[in-house]
Amino acid sequence: MKILLVEDSRAIVAVMSVRLSSFGHEVTVAENGEIALALFIEQAPDLILMDIEMPVMNGFEATARIRAIETTQDWAWTPILFLTASDTRENLVTAIEAGGDDFIVKSVSEDVLQAKMKAMARIAALRSRLTVANRLLLEQASRDGLTGLYNRRYMDMKLDLAWSEAKRDSTSFGLLMLDIDHFKKYNDHYGHLAGDDCLRKVAGTIGSVVDRYRAEREAASPFAARYGGEEFAVVMPLATRELYHGLAGALLDAVRGIAVSHQHNADWGIVTLSIGGAFVMQADDTLATLFRAADERLYIAKERGRNGCVLS
Ligand code: GH3
Ligand code: MG
Ligand code: MG
Ligand code: MG
Repeated sequence: MKILLVEDSRAIVAVMSVRLSSFGHEVTVAENGEIALALFIEQAPDLILMDIEMPVMNGFEATARIRAIETTQDWAWTPILFLTASDTRENLVTAIEAGGDDFIVKSVSEDVLQAKMKAMARIAALRSRLTVANRLLLEQASRDGLTGLYNRRYMDMKLDLAWSEAKRDSTSFGLLMLDIDHFKKYNDHYGHLAGDDCLRKVAGTIGSVVDRYRAEREAASPFAARYGGEEFAVVMPLATRELYHGLAGALLDAVRGIAVSHQHNADWGIVTLSIGGAFVMQADDTLATLFRAADERLYIAKERGRNGCVLS
């Protein structure tokens, strides 16, 4: 374990760190609560051993601050054991009330210390497995199962954030709505499974075009999502008008480029997209008006014969 030992007495530090190291743990020492806070943020230790009486900032205050920081973090609870002078009922009650998990007396015998550390190591192992599982779940919850693109839920969340930033900073904002042409006929002709496969290919292509644009331009950070069915959205915070037009054209080209056969898509014989877009330089628009505008233009693109885009 990575153990943060917070203790102002050099004698205690010397004894404790030798023992803890001999059990195979990695020990970092802080001489007071304030240093402990900085090291806690920097190192995210698996366990904290916390003295109570210390100069600058005592153990109770440092613990309260750590717990406050944790409410804003993923690693929501780092075990804290107080180091106390004596083994009393009051010490246990006070330690837990102060946000600690237990206490250890400074005169603890080697075997008891080792046993307690073994128990703490089990908790640390469990915590790191939870963190990994949590990260994976979050990632999965933000993705569309069929295509692997971001899903609607994630898009809405990111969109709200990006939109309010654009409003605050008076920056430009672009939105593209993409819809596969005559996809119902595709399913009818090739079957639903082939339809799924086609969706995956088109989504993958959209995703890589957007990734390439993002990689090439530092400021703008476009992202693509499956909006629903055979519709996709590309959100473009901080986009210039040039980028907005360029990306729409690149998306049309790239999907034509994979040349997925589609016998019933007019005379083209391959799968194509129609795109409607909206671009704002910050007026009184809302996200709803942006979506409505993009949607209306998508409709116009369909009316004009599909396989093209209508942008503002
Ligand atoms: P348009 O060019 O006007 O957009 O015509 P369209 O046929 O693409 O539009 P419409 O909205 O009539 O049909 C969309 C089709 O997309 C119908 C639906 O079955 C299909 N679809 C939606 N989601 C999926 C999916 O996950 N898998 C498959 N295979 N098909 C899907
Ligand atoms: Mg002390
Ligand atoms: Mg549609
Ligand atoms: Mg369609």
